[in-house]
Amino acid sequence: MFKKILIANRGEIALRIIRACKELGIKTVAVYSKADAESLHVRFADESVCIGPPENSKSYLNETNIISACEITDAEAVHPGYGFLAENARFAEMCQECNITFIGPPPEIIRLMGDKVSARQIAKRAGLPILPGSSDSVKDLKEALDVAKSIGFPIILKASAGGGGRGMRVVFSEDALANSFMMARSESISSFGSPDIYVEKFLEKPRHIEFQVIGDQKGNIYHLGERECSIQRRHQKLLEESPSPVVTEKVREKMGNLVVAAMREIKYSSVGTVEFLMDREGNFYFIEMNTRIQVEHPVTEMVTGIDLIKEQIRIAAGQELKYRSKDIRLTGHSIECRINAEDPQNFTPNPGKITAFNLPGGPGIRVDTAAYSEYLVTPFYDSLIAKLIVHARDRAEAIARMERALDEFIVEGIKTTIPLHKKLMRDPYFRQGKYHIEFLSELLGKS
Ligand code: ADP
Repeated sequence: MFKKILIANRGEIALRIIRACKELGIKTVAVYSKADAESLHVRFADESVCIGPPENSKSYLNETNIISACEITDAEAVHPGYGFLAENARFAEMCQECNITFIGPPPEIIRLMGDKVSARQIAKRAGLPILPGSSDSVKDLKEALDVAKSIGFPIILKASAGGGGRGMRVVFSEDALANSFMMARSESISSFGSPDIYVEKFLEKPRHIEFQVIGDQKGNIYHLGERECSIQRRHQKLLEESPSPVVTEKVREKMGNLVVAAMREIKYSSVGTVEFLMDREGNFYFIEMNTRIQVEHPVTEMVTGIDLIKEQIRIAAGQELKYRSKDIRLTGHSIECRINAEDPQNFTPNPGKITAFNLPGGPGIRVDTAAYSEYLVTPFYDSLIAKLIVHARDRAEAIARMERALDEFIVEGIKTTIPLHKKLMRDPYFRQGKYHIEFLSELLGKS
């Protein structure tokens, strides 16, 4: 096992990784930007290194400074968390070259699955259902039109290198295609540095359902059930739950087996997530794979009792998974609400100083946060300030628990998404599990 790990991240996920390391008896090194000198991840790590000014590109994305920080502290491994360098194959290779273990799958897998076109091709070959669309990136407007005509409008143009809900454009008719194609291509170049875009069938009001996978370097690979992530704003998740209110035991087994077979095919190791859209008839279609830990991993931890970060570290150290699929049981129901420093009406970021901060507690409550009273939410990074996670015997109890926990959660000085989550908990359709990816915008449109 590693003696010392460097955490190339900040905020709640850096703290989450420090917690796992402490329980495993591993020393930790935090890296931080000048804007984060007062952060909890710096305070709770055994050592810390300042890696640059507040801007991401000069600190948390500064590969050379992070590698140097490993060298001066003798850290043997890097945990990238999510975002930043977590899916950067070049950084994973740099680590390898410097004899530092990158906690994640091998760089080749990160590269293949990070490109959405090659991920689609691999998924198809490995037996996962994909949406109708182009088999490769489309080279020009004519090719995009040919594909669109063959699969029928509406379609969605997607950046092959896209992520974070960006780089997508829905096209409803042939007339709108030329303009959208140009815009999609230039957005892809400016945001992701690549002109590659592809065409996919656009599904109206599907549900986003994803499977958590875990595999060691010895070929043992399992799925840990699904998460439903259809409560989204601007194609970004805001609330997640496990299990999904619409996935039956039979469907879970069928989809889970398909996912595990596909992962075995690509020899996946580490934790990962295979994302699907489910249409109104209940058909699943692969959309992408994330080769890292996800923001919403706690809901899976709550229902399986498996600590995904500890497992990820053990796997990277070469240890074998000790359980078998029959040992994996889903117990009860878990919901996570993302508490963002945002205006809940229009989702514009709302940085500032937190003047009062009271965390909820009591049975079945977990809060993953790096915020505290007097903490300054800066404008430089993601607006996520806390994740409120509940676990209960069933979905109804989980909703009731979340409602009372949201009431106990006091954040003053900045606007947050807490009022929006309260509204969701009261909504009769949400309570019945009847929702889809457009549900939240429709709910906000109504009020
Ligand atoms: P990203 O990597 O940016 O998160 P994804 O491919 O995972 O992109 O898609 C993010 C979200 O965009 C999905 O959860 C869904 O809301 C929407 N989306 C993506 N593809 C489609 C599609 N073909 N039809 C309808 N909605 C889609």
